[in-house]
Amino acid sequence: MKKKIVSTIGILGLCTSLAFPAYAADPVNQEMHHHPYSISGFISHSELQKSLKQIEKSSNGVVQVEVAGQSHKGLDIYTVKVGTGDKVILIQSEIHGNEKTGTVAILNLLNNLSTNSKEAKKIREEVTLVFMPMMNPDASEGDKRRNSMTWAEVVEDFPQLASAKPSWNYLDRGISQSYNYGENPGFDVNRDFNPNLNYVPTAQDFPGASNKPGWFITPESQTSRDVYKALKAEYGNVDVFIDLHHQGMYYVDGTSDEVTLSLSAQFVPNPNTPEGAKYAPYADDYNYDFSRQLNVAAYNELQSYGNSKFTNISLYSQGLDLPGTALGSYALNGSGTVLFEVKGQTQMMGHKEKGQLVKSVERGLEAIIQGVADGSVETLNPEDYEKIPLTSNRPS
Ligand SMILES: [Zn+2]
Repeated sequence: MKKKIVSTIGILGLCTSLAFPAYAADPVNQEMHHHPYSISGFISHSELQKSLKQIEKSSNGVVQVEVAGQSHKGLDIYTVKVGTGDKVILIQSEIHGNEKTGTVAILNLLNNLSTNSKEAKKIREEVTLVFMPMMNPDASEGDKRRNSMTWAEVVEDFPQLASAKPSWNYLDRGISQSYNYGENPGFDVNRDFNPNLNYVPTAQDFPGASNKPGWFITPESQTSRDVYKALKAEYGNVDVFIDLHHQGMYYVDGTSDEVTLSLSAQFVPNPNTPEGAKYAPYADDYNYDFSRQLNVAAYNELQSYGNSKFTNISLYSQGLDLPGTALGSYALNGSGTVLFEVKGQTQMMGHKEKGQLVKSVERGLEAIIQGVADGSVETLNPEDYEKIPLTSNRPS
């Protein structure tokens, strides 16, 4: 609907360009600011594009930027590769577009990793790092959780779904997180993954549910899946996958400290246990202990900044069964997995506390990368994960 209006204006614009110069901009990618908080401290898609070009150029071949795919609205989705080691780490940000610190943290990390320092060189020898910053750019530009695709557009791509009910993660009515999805519907891309990376959508698997796999019906999840599969084909395994998110405002259990960030290693029940029996085909690949070690590496690092907000770290909700998340699907495919959930989404606080929150993500990521590069992460006790405090709704 919206697209039709826009293209009509485009045609008029051709005839009357002097009278209506304002229409020269691309209105498809411009959405109204829909909450009272400023987000100018964060990064737009065009700023990301510029920064990546600049980092690539000044790195003299150390950093390689490629276009891995396009969003539904046609914005480029990038991969940024650093390092030549045989251990592979894939890090994604902004699958939810109102969760923005991860992209800034990735750019800061790229600046550090591309230098000539001894530490950076050592990491690049041991590890191949692949970043997908702002992997859902339509959501990022709209400053909202969901992408900008309608169910009718999905059926255009997959005609076999003509008789299916729209998937459960599609929203086309009402206001959610201050955003009007009645006007601009979309899918939660982070419920569109499937542990079967070659899955083809079939009508009988819709509308689905949160404890069932997704379908790869969105171009954004398809792009992530294609990158993941290509890495698996080239290196044998994607050793580590990290997804960078934001959550609400919570407290570190048993304290009155606001959570700075929550971590997690658990997104589906362990296929090696009775609760995870439905995932039995993935049992040999799933490596929960390695995921827990990676989380402990980030936690220990942040605890080392004693008597500061950096230490207010908790475990995200445990006991989840979310196979449609990127983390759930990739964990079942053999990746050690880490979830970062930073305090507060943009519609709650805009870019407030950005410096502190970005730094927390950076420090957690650096510890994981360092620990994988030098092998020290494998000496950590996975059971220490269970000592990380839980998350609470209330201070105590
Ligand atoms: Zn999120």
